[in-house]
Amino acid sequence: MKNKRIAIIGAGPSGLAQIRAFESAKKQGKEIPEIVCFEKQANWGGMWNYTWRTGVGKFGEPIHGSMYKYLWSNGPKECLEFSDYSFDEHFKKPISSYPPRPVLFDYIQGRINKSNARDYIRFNTTLRWLTFNEETEKFTLFLDDLKNNKTYEEKFDYVVVATGHFSTPNMPFFEGIDDFPGAVMHAHDFRGADQFIDKDLLLIGSSYSAEDIGVQSYKHGAKSVTLSYRSNPIGLSWPEGIEERPLVTHFEGNTAFFKDGTSKRFDAVVMCTGYQHKFPFLPSYLRLKTENNLYPDHLYKGIFFQTQPKLIYLGMQDQYYTFNMFDTQAWLSRDYMMGEFELPSKEEQRKDIDLWLEKYSKVDDPKEDVDFQADYIKDLIQMTDYPEFNVDKVGEMFKQWLQDKEDNILTYRDKTFRSVVTGTMAAEHHTEWMDELDDSLERYLMKEEKTKETVLS
Ligand code: FAD
Ligand code: NAP
Ligand code: MG
Repeated sequence: MKNKRIAIIGAGPSGLAQIRAFESAKKQGKEIPEIVCFEKQANWGGMWNYTWRTGVGKFGEPIHGSMYKYLWSNGPKECLEFSDYSFDEHFKKPISSYPPRPVLFDYIQGRINKSNARDYIRFNTTLRWLTFNEETEKFTLFLDDLKNNKTYEEKFDYVVVATGHFSTPNMPFFEGIDDFPGAVMHAHDFRGADQFIDKDLLLIGSSYSAEDIGVQSYKHGAKSVTLSYRSNPIGLSWPEGIEERPLVTHFEGNTAFFKDGTSKRFDAVVMCTGYQHKFPFLPSYLRLKTENNLYPDHLYKGIFFQTQPKLIYLGMQDQYYTFNMFDTQAWLSRDYMMGEFELPSKEEQRKDIDLWLEKYSKVDDPKEDVDFQADYIKDLIQMTDYPEFNVDKVGEMFKQWLQDKEDNILTYRDKTFRSVVTGTMAAEHHTEWMDELDDSLERYLMKEEKTKETVLS
């Protein structure tokens, strides 16, 4: 084991899950391989490591982060809780079910801070390229030490790609947009709604980014929010000030025209049109090529690249379950790299993938999505020693969450859920979400209850 070398690319939740999986084996007294994690940012946390920057970073690298100020969890925290590190263990008291980004960032770090995980990570280091030698069965990685402006090569037996897939914008073109006089950006570059106060805002897209940036902009004082959908509207009952229209056909000056013949003047446009799975550091024959969906083809168990299983992908699925799904994947990939889980023949792998794809083709609403992803996780869990958690119960919470959003998109984040890890019921946040404009950790954890009434009295 000692002579084996493993490269993990990315220190976001998926990459950190991989490190944690090895640490957990080490704690059981097992000999683990040598691990090096390469992270192009100066800190870990991936998406959860907020940056004010857009475009390129200090060293000219494309900015990874797509998160923004005032971002609150869009699902109950009980649905993403690590089964080996609970919220109770971290915060020492019950907290609400929908914490803001800094609180979840703190939680992610809490688990990994307990070990010496930082020692495994080379920060400010980008993987530029890699090759695989069929004879030696080793990967050569070409790395760029950004701080020292120095490139170097290293050899590894396995490579774990944990670089996320919500970073490279999918940016469509609409006739006339090149002459639009206001701001035009992709959700990837959105950093908070402050700039849209009193503005008429157009969001193109009908998924999570459109919904969340729309609701945040409404909450923080945009004059109006218009969501423009290509396939289907989000279809919630929106408050006055948010509306949905079919797809934009073209722009004339600052007026957008829609498929239903209507038009409206806007100050700014945000493309909430999703992301590309992008792996510029991989030769095309090793690249995962997929849309954003719950079962990308060519990955056995959603992890092992079919033509070269020493190349492992984590977190490449669209996500209901997040942190705990990455964990179960990381535990299984660890077992494989440690020789404790054997892959079946290529034919068996193909059969298994086809079975899952067949099952996925029959899924056609969000509730079935949740069941599908739950089944996927249960399949992984029974193959590993990741601490069991009640995946179905979490699935029920997701379904309640879907219902809560439908009931009221402005208040669903005030609801509370019970942890399947500790049995603890979440606390109510001291301030209703619509009135809470401060997303800091300090404000979130403060003891004094500044409810609406006490503020007003
Ligand atoms: P990421 O978090 O994207 O981390 C990938 C890491 O790889 C980054 O640190 C990046 O710098 C690094 N990297 C990339 N390329 C290279 C390279 N070539 N060399 C070295 N390092 C590299 N999930 C939830 O559960 N709840 C939420 O509320 C939620 N909100 C979200 C909001 C937004 C706007 C977005 C975009 C996503 C949200 N998610 C949410 C989903 C989120 O993607 C996951 O929670 C999680 O961050 C995915 O982890 P990951 O490690 O797979 O990828
Ligand atoms: P997404 O779920 O992949 O959705 C992409 C959207 O873009 C779809 O509505 C798609 O419409 C639309 N689209 C794509 N190409 C288009 C085109 N050419 N013209 C018009 N519309 C087009 O991406 P996302 O909404 O950015 O979400 C990504 C991730 O971020 C999710 O995991 C989500 O959970 C996370 N997120 C979380 C929060 C939070 O509150 N914490 C906030 C934002 C995002 P079709 O249906 O027609 O394909
Ligand atoms: Mg098990």
